[in-house]
Amino acid sequence: MKIAEQKYPDIKNYINGEFIDNAGDMIDVMSPLDGEIISQVPISGNDTLDLTVSAAKSAFPGWADIPIKERVQVLFKYRVLLEKFKDELSELIRIENGKTIGEAEAEINKSIELTEFACSLPQIIAGEIMEVSKGVDCRSERIPLGVVASITPFNFPTMVPHWTIPIVLALGNCMVLKPSELVPLSSGKTAKLLKESGLPDGVFNVVNGSREIVEAICDHPGIKAVSFVGSTKVAKIVYKRATGNLKRCLALGGAKNHLIVLPDANPEMTASNIAASMSGCAGQRCMAASAMIAVGEIDHIVDKICEEARSIIPGINLGSVISKEAKERIERYITEAEQQGAKVLIDGRNTMVEGFEGGYYVGTTIIDNVTPEMAIAREEVFGPVLAIIRANSLDEALDIENGSNYGNAAAIFTQSGGLARYAAEKSSAGMIGINIGVPVPREPFSFGGWNESKFGAGDITGKSSVEFWTQIKKTTIKWNPEAKTNWMS
Ligand code: NAD
Repeated sequence: MKIAEQKYPDIKNYINGEFIDNAGDMIDVMSPLDGEIISQVPISGNDTLDLTVSAAKSAFPGWADIPIKERVQVLFKYRVLLEKFKDELSELIRIENGKTIGEAEAEINKSIELTEFACSLPQIIAGEIMEVSKGVDCRSERIPLGVVASITPFNFPTMVPHWTIPIVLALGNCMVLKPSELVPLSSGKTAKLLKESGLPDGVFNVVNGSREIVEAICDHPGIKAVSFVGSTKVAKIVYKRATGNLKRCLALGGAKNHLIVLPDANPEMTASNIAASMSGCAGQRCMAASAMIAVGEIDHIVDKICEEARSIIPGINLGSVISKEAKERIERYITEAEQQGAKVLIDGRNTMVEGFEGGYYVGTTIIDNVTPEMAIAREEVFGPVLAIIRANSLDEALDIENGSNYGNAAAIFTQSGGLARYAAEKSSAGMIGINIGVPVPREPFSFGGWNESKFGAGDITGKSSVEFWTQIKKTTIKWNPEAKTNWMS
């Protein structure tokens, strides 16, 4: 069946436990698998946000008042529902984003893991109490902030929202989710499942839209904190605007991840890892291998990477990229590098998948002899493209890695523990892989990059997220009058 025949009902905002009929402008939603229109999404503005924040504000005192051990009972049920509806959710993600069904399922598995982490928060956030003077106790505890917002990108329609949803809710906040207007289908299902899990109305809300609603979120006086995940360009705008309005903000941006390969690397393990890292989710991952720095004579490994890459077939084990513009942008990077003297070893331009001729496919592409000055070496391509830069030494490779404006991930492939350790220490990135091409830290370890890959303190998941989504209340307590024994009393 063609994707176009599986028309999805128009997407609605989800406010105070209800899907609300849209009053304003709508834009088309396309499936990148075949370029057909599958739905329409509202482009919401200030009025919708006012309604949403007011509902969330009303829900907040009741939700925050429930002890965390009880709040997470909702998430235990939600976790079961994510498992139960995994197939349906995965299919929505596949249709809206274009990734393969296996990649979509992996997103749900990761969302389940994030929900499990949130369920464990009562064990993690217990406060502290100490007798600070004779008969005087000081107690500290974590208190939710109020209404908060999470703005998310197109590349992980469910996983990235789950970096925030379960943690924010477990900690007692009420939230507004603003999904990417390119992939708005699965957030509606998330809302339904949270309601079915027993989440009170108004605690979780979804407002759709693009620039206007994001700006309204940054400006709204009722929103205490904003998390953002997307491109560096927009991360900077959001960070400046939200903090300019005196809100907490954590804004994760784009990436350019370098993988350094030394001649002693295990050829099979390295090749399969790098091919998977560059092509998974059609290269549309902020953790994707984008630039490989080949140190010394490693043609035997480059050959193996090419062999692996040739077995990645568009429409079978390689999904589409998100849009026509994305396909054109990726192909432009390849052509420009070629014109500047780089050698295209595998060419994914002009890829078409039979039966899905309108789809936005780019085949895996490997380009050798890229120099560090070329745009393809410096900028985020966000497609299944690996640029190989040749270097004579590990230090030269590290200089190239350190020269990037980004700093999400970096990896080294070698059999030498000493060199791996040296590279890990010297790399300027928040997440380091040793013989691993996609070094995503799994829960409870936190996710977050450095440099222009992240603005704001702390990370978006793990224990670090608890700092972001709560404030600490310190209470100093004295009950017995005779305890007045020193200056503090
Ligand atoms: P994007 O920046 O275009 O959009 C992200 C969000 O911002 C969307 O919800 C969108 O509606 C909104 N937006 C877009 N333009 C805006 C503007 N001018 N003003 C205000 N809001 C605006 O990003 P994308 O294309 O959806 O996602 C891909 C990017 O996200 C890549 O750069 C990728 O590296 C990055 N990303 C980063 C991480 C990370 O952890 N660092 C994770 C996933 C994706």
